[in-house]
Amino acid sequence: MDLDKALGLIAEVPDFPQPGILFRDFAPLFASAEGFAEVTSALAGTLDEGVELLAAVEARGFLLAAALGQAQGLGVVMVRKPGKLPQVAARADYELEYGRATLELPAGVVQPGQRVAVIDDVLATGGTVAAACRLLEQAGAVVSGVSVVLELAGLGGRDALPGRSVRTLHTS
Ligand code: IMP
Repeated sequence: MDLDKALGLIAEVPDFPQPGILFRDFAPLFASAEGFAEVTSALAGTLDEGVELLAAVEARGFLLAAALGQAQGLGVVMVRKPGKLPQVAARADYELEYGRATLELPAGVVQPGQRVAVIDDVLATGGTVAAACRLLEQAGAVVSGVSVVLELAGLGGRDALPGRSVRTLHTS
């Protein structure tokens, strides 16, 4: 399957999770072995040389980073929603397209100076990825780049990530 066809498996669902939001649903993409493999391989091409660890944003970022990490011989650190981690290194609150949210980084996983790439499914306002980058840098990591499958144009995601290498597979 080619990349366009794989990305075409992402469904557009109007009015979820609230009226006026067009939600990109990755469920059909993840359910396709060929589509998922194609997207994983395209994401591999976005990684900088020298990346040592992948940071995955809960929850769809977990699937993407796990597949990518296994294919590339890289481990994964889970950047999680609050209340899930038994030991928290750092916590970040941020604004979402619809509401507020918090992310947490586990303690004792990221090493100072380690080169980490942030992986997620969708870049909208950029608040989520910006918060993940802040957490990693608080832990002393070096964020080498950000790799996201789908960028939603017009929501300012890149503006929220000044100076960062942001690579996306598709903009819509
Ligand atoms: P941002 O923080 O505004 O950039 O929103 C990105 C975060 O919200 C990502 O972690 C996404 O998983 C999630 N998100 C925002 N819009 C969508 C969507 O249309 N489909 C799936 N996830 C979304």
